[in-house]
Amino acid sequence: MSSTTTVRKRAATGALVGLALGDALGFPTEFNDVPQIVAKSGPWRHMPLPARAHVSDDTQMTLAVARGLRSAMDRGVLGPLPLERPVREEFVTWYHSPENNRAPGRTCLRACELLDDPERPWQDASQIDSKGCGANMRVAPIGLAPGLSDEQRAGAAQLQAALTHGHPTGLAAADLTAHAVRLLAHGTGPAALIGLLRAYALANRTRYHHAWLGGLWRRAQDPDAEHYIARGWDDCLAALDRLEAAVRDADPEDDPCLATGAGWIAEEALTTGLLCFLLFPDEPVTALRRAACSSGDSDSIACLTGAFAGAWLGADAWPTEWADRVEYGSELVTLGALWDE
Ligand SMILES: [Mg+2]
Repeated sequence: MSSTTTVRKRAATGALVGLALGDALGFPTEFNDVPQIVAKSGPWRHMPLPARAHVSDDTQMTLAVARGLRSAMDRGVLGPLPLERPVREEFVTWYHSPENNRAPGRTCLRACELLDDPERPWQDASQIDSKGCGANMRVAPIGLAPGLSDEQRAGAAQLQAALTHGHPTGLAAADLTAHAVRLLAHGTGPAALIGLLRAYALANRTRYHHAWLGGLWRRAQDPDAEHYIARGWDDCLAALDRLEAAVRDADPEDDPCLATGAGWIAEEALTTGLLCFLLFPDEPVTALRRAACSSGDSDSIACLTGAFAGAWLGADAWPTEWADRVEYGSELVTLGALWDE
């Protein structure tokens, strides 16, 4: 698909609105199992968007990444330091915001508290053992911003992850999530997606982005940087294997978390989010409802499903009545329009 087509379908707007809708749909069900959700909201295929369509920390932190990325790109060539400064600032602003009351993750709170000290190198704030999904649920903007080289996109995806989550799987899953969003926005079809993601993971398996990550790997127990990052990609490759089997065998009426995992950890949020998209590639609202009606981290899974479906189908994927009332909707549409130009 040419970039003209990407622009015509408004992939960035579709992905940003989609992730907020998934987040708002899944937020009330994050800590419920499927029978509890059905008791509360009725049959999953008819799950309503709450009247007050509030999003969670997933969308708030996606906006933080998007705003930081935009500031960095407005100032010049995107590199590690130009990206770190504004994104770090946005994370700390989010940390102190009175709106930060949406069941935020512990890793993000702890890391942001440490990032708040401007004297501290970010690598010392990074939670080196955490591979919670908090770093890839917010990475979509990196896959949507136009004009980045492959190296900038990968470095930026991993750096924004590493500011809070230092486990190599957090970095690899964020990079892979941004890559998936990018591929779908540019016309890669659902049938080709898993193969391309696997190829990307294999090609990057021992590539440590020294310029972007500095000495982060030394905080872990690995003998060298390549060994550190390969652990992350190996987790992602194993998760992609399970995804491939699930796309083939899973019953769409079952809880998707039974097939590919509950999504509290980074690689499972990616693959369970992808599974819901791939089960219903042309029914974006059904895909979102499937993701939100799941036993695991429903808001993060549905957030990612919304990003994938929106990148693939564009802004028209979503009912106007939903898009118009989701929280932060107008800021997301403005950002999307900027990147869809
Ligand atoms: Mg959340």
